[in-house]
Amino acid sequence: MISDSPKHTALNQFPIHDDCLIIGGVPLTRLAQRVGQTPFYAYDRQKITDRITLLRNALPGDIHLHYAMKANPMPAVVQHLAGLVDGIDVASVGEMHVALDTTMPAERISFAGPGKTDHELSCAISAGIVLNMESEQEMQRIAEIGEHLGIQPNVAVRVNPDFELKAAGMKMSGGPKQFGIDAERVPALLGRLGKLDLNFLGFHIFSGSQNLKVEALLEAHEKTIQLSLQLAEKAPTPIRILNIGGGFGIPYFPGEKALNIHAVGENLDRLLPVIKRHLPTADVVIELGRYIVAEAGIYVCRILERKKSRGKTFLITDGGLHHHLAASGNFGQVIRKNYPVIIGNKVASNIRETVSVVGPLCTPLDLLADQLEMAQADENDLVVVLQSGAYGLTASPTFFLSHPKPLEILV
Ligand SMILES: *Cc1c(COP(=O)(O)O)cnc(C)c1O
Repeated sequence: MISDSPKHTALNQFPIHDDCLIIGGVPLTRLAQRVGQTPFYAYDRQKITDRITLLRNALPGDIHLHYAMKANPMPAVVQHLAGLVDGIDVASVGEMHVALDTTMPAERISFAGPGKTDHELSCAISAGIVLNMESEQEMQRIAEIGEHLGIQPNVAVRVNPDFELKAAGMKMSGGPKQFGIDAERVPALLGRLGKLDLNFLGFHIFSGSQNLKVEALLEAHEKTIQLSLQLAEKAPTPIRILNIGGGFGIPYFPGEKALNIHAVGENLDRLLPVIKRHLPTADVVIELGRYIVAEAGIYVCRILERKKSRGKTFLITDGGLHHHLAASGNFGQVIRKNYPVIIGNKVASNIRETVSVVGPLCTPLDLLADQLEMAQADENDLVVVLQSGAYGLTASPTFFLSHPKPLEILV
C-alpha cells in the first residue's frame, strides 16, 4: 500500500512511487545517485511554474508579480523565474549580478535594503535598475553618485508605514524600523526629491513576511493603498510603480493551513480599480519570495548512524543546521517546532518510530527533528526536510565547523 503519511498529507505535495519521493519526475534515490553526494537541496522546476500559474489565476491580471530572490538566489532558479515573473527584487549587488544575467530587463529589477554602500549604489545606477531608497541620506548619495556618473538614477521611495502587518512571522514595518522612511517624513522628502536629478517612479511599502492570515493581508493591502494615495498627492511626478509588498506565508507546522490566495485576489480585484482611478499610470507590484519557491524545495541528507541514548533514538545524519538553519529552529522561531521531516525512500512505511534527527555538529542546536514520528530508518536511508525551497542554504551558517557545502540542483 502506498499512501501519504497522514501527518504530512497537507505538507507533502510531491508524488510517491514505491514508497519513494519523486522530485521533478525522478525518484529520490536515483536523484541522490545522480547528484553523487549528500547532503543536497533539490528544487522542482514544475512546482515553481505551477505556483506562478496559481498566483496568476488568483490575482488580478494587471498585477505585476516580482520575485524577491533572497528567498532562493540559486542562479538556475532565478533564471527559470525570470521567464515567468514581471520583475526581480534584489537585496545586494551579488544578487543584482545574478538577476542581470537573466533575461529580465534592468528597469524591472529593484534593489531594496538599508545600508547600501556608495559602491553598491554606483553599480546599481550604472546597471539602470530601480533603487528603493531607505533614508534621506541615501537619496542624497544616490543623487550625487548619479551626477558623478552622468546617469539619472531610477528611484522609488520605500515607506515605513504607520501600521504593521498583523500576525506576520516577521514584522518589517510599523513603529521604529531600520527599513524605509517613516511615512510622516515622506511628504517633506518628496519635496526635496523633486529638486534633485532623479527619475522618481513611485513607492515601495513592504510590511512583513510569512503571513498565513488572510484578514491581516487584506487589512495591510487596504491600508497600504490608502497611504500610497495620500503620499502620491505630494509626489513630484505621476506614480508609475506602486509596490504593495507581499509577505504571503506557507504552512510549516502541524495545524497551519495554506493561505487562502483566492480571497487575497478577490480583495485586490476590488482595490485595483480604486488605484487605477487615482493613479492611472501606476503598475501595481506584489513581491514574493517564500510563497513562490518554499514548497518546491527539499533538503536531503543521509543517515550515518542510528544511536540509542537512555531510551531515545537518534538518527545522526551528514546534514544539519550549517546547511538548514531554519529547520533547526534557529532562524526566527521563538519556540522550536519541527519542520515536516520524512524518510524520503520510506515515506509511508507502516513500521514507524519516534526519533530525533541530528547533524554532525558539536552543538545540541544541531537538530533537524525532535522526537518526531517517522518511518523506521536505517543507515544510508535518506532524510528529507520538506518546505525547504526558501531561506535554506543561503540563510545558513555553512562555514560553521568547516564541513563541505551541499550541492543545489533544479530538476
Ligand atoms: C525579504 C523580502 C521579501 C520577500 O519576503 P518573503 O516573505 O520571502 O515573500 C520581499 N520584499 C522585501 C523588501 C524583502 O526584504
